[in-house]
Amino acid sequence: MATSPILIVGGGIGGLSLALELAKRNIACQVFEQAAEFSEVGAGLQLSPNAVRRLEALGLGTVLSIAACAPPKIMIGDAVSKQTLNEIHLGQNAQERYKAPYLVIARQDLQSILLDALEAYECVELVCNKKFITYSQNAHHITAEMTDGSSYQGQLLIGADGVWSRVRHMFAPEQKPKQSGFMAWRALVEASDAPSLFTSANVHAWLGPNSHLVHYRVCGGEKINLVAVTKGKALDKTWSDDTPKEALYEELRPFNGQLRQAVMDVSNWTAWPLMILNPFNNWSKGRAVLLGDAAHAIVPFLAQGAAMAIEDAACLAALISDTKDEHTTAFESFKAKRFRRCQRVLSKSIYQAQIYHAAGRLAKIRNGGLKMLPSSLLLRQYDWLYKG
Ligand SMILES: Cc1cc2nc3c(=O)[nH]c(=O)nc-3n(C[C@H](O)[C@H](O)[C@H](O)COP(=O)(O)OP(=O)(O)OC[C@H]3O[C@@H](n4cnc5c(N)ncnc54)[C@H](O)[C@@H]3O)c2cc1C
Repeated sequence: MATSPILIVGGGIGGLSLALELAKRNIACQVFEQAAEFSEVGAGLQLSPNAVRRLEALGLGTVLSIAACAPPKIMIGDAVSKQTLNEIHLGQNAQERYKAPYLVIARQDLQSILLDALEAYECVELVCNKKFITYSQNAHHITAEMTDGSSYQGQLLIGADGVWSRVRHMFAPEQKPKQSGFMAWRALVEASDAPSLFTSANVHAWLGPNSHLVHYRVCGGEKINLVAVTKGKALDKTWSDDTPKEALYEELRPFNGQLRQAVMDVSNWTAWPLMILNPFNNWSKGRAVLLGDAAHAIVPFLAQGAAMAIEDAACLAALISDTKDEHTTAFESFKAKRFRRCQRVLSKSIYQAQIYHAAGRLAKIRNGGLKMLPSSLLLRQYDWLYKG
């Protein structure tokens, strides 16, 4: 039993982080990714100190510091007036307070870092072009079946297969993600081609009625990642439909003209719907358990989805290692340790959405409050999250 591998379905940030956490503990695993190669869809990620601390504990601190950017500040601005409302000092400030930096990184770069680190471990097998379809289990093992007819046996099966998780569907089909009512629009552009409004070394969050825009540098500063979130419903569930930027331009109608024009000057916007999956009671059944977006999909107003998947991975691997063959104990402890935090992040993210997207009188109150607050307090309000 002890030599039977752990099967991980999904080679996203959550699945690869878990593979590395297990490998560090000398636990064999196989990662199955449906895509033809391990390639992250999407653009950039903000990696808050709670996530960076876990990645540093995996020995990735040096490579992260090379590939990621450390923005000195988060600038919070009003998208209608283009006025700065306040700024959150990161840099040394965040490092000292949280014992880890606040970083921003291209998804592909984080994935490459994880894949490179995994190469050092013979106990990890990465398998692309393998789409999980179903499993069967008994008292001794669990068998994953793939759409190509192949099957793999292991001691446990981890569903790190994202918001549309097939593993979750197998044992909790009633738990379906729901539309959050928000659309995310993203673009990744060369810094040299980007409108000058977007080339700052800081993270900028422009708050507008029913919409906001975030931009920051990634790829060593060579590219700019842009994300706009607007009200609206999905076209369908894919991540990267080509969507006319005119539609985004229309959504950002209340924005300051210069900001709006800069958005128009970026050509490669894509749009996708944001889904929510509330943490639910049964994250596991028998030898199968869920992790990351498969268990709890969060709207990105606190930029925490990948961070929660990284935290999940560290927690689950430690429990699997500590409890040896007692997977029921490991899975119960995993849920006990992670459920409330993930739920809190989700509800705070939804609350943050209301603040970010406030309009009219509420926006005036928000702006007045933000201008008055000492910037040190702005960072401190995230202590519960970044120290966790
Ligand atoms: C606009 C936007 C901005 C965001 N910004 C941030 C941010 O700044 N910071 C942050 O921390 N988070 C952010 N997030 C959230 C973050 O992207 C996700 O929470 C995170 O990627 C989840 O990781 P995961 O590994 O759980 O799932 P995923 O990244 O979805 O990975 C799942 C993997 O499983 C594979 N898969 C699926 N089904 C199967 C199958 N049947 N068989 C085999 N493989 C399968 C998929 O191909 C995929 O590779 C953002 C999200 C959005 C939408």
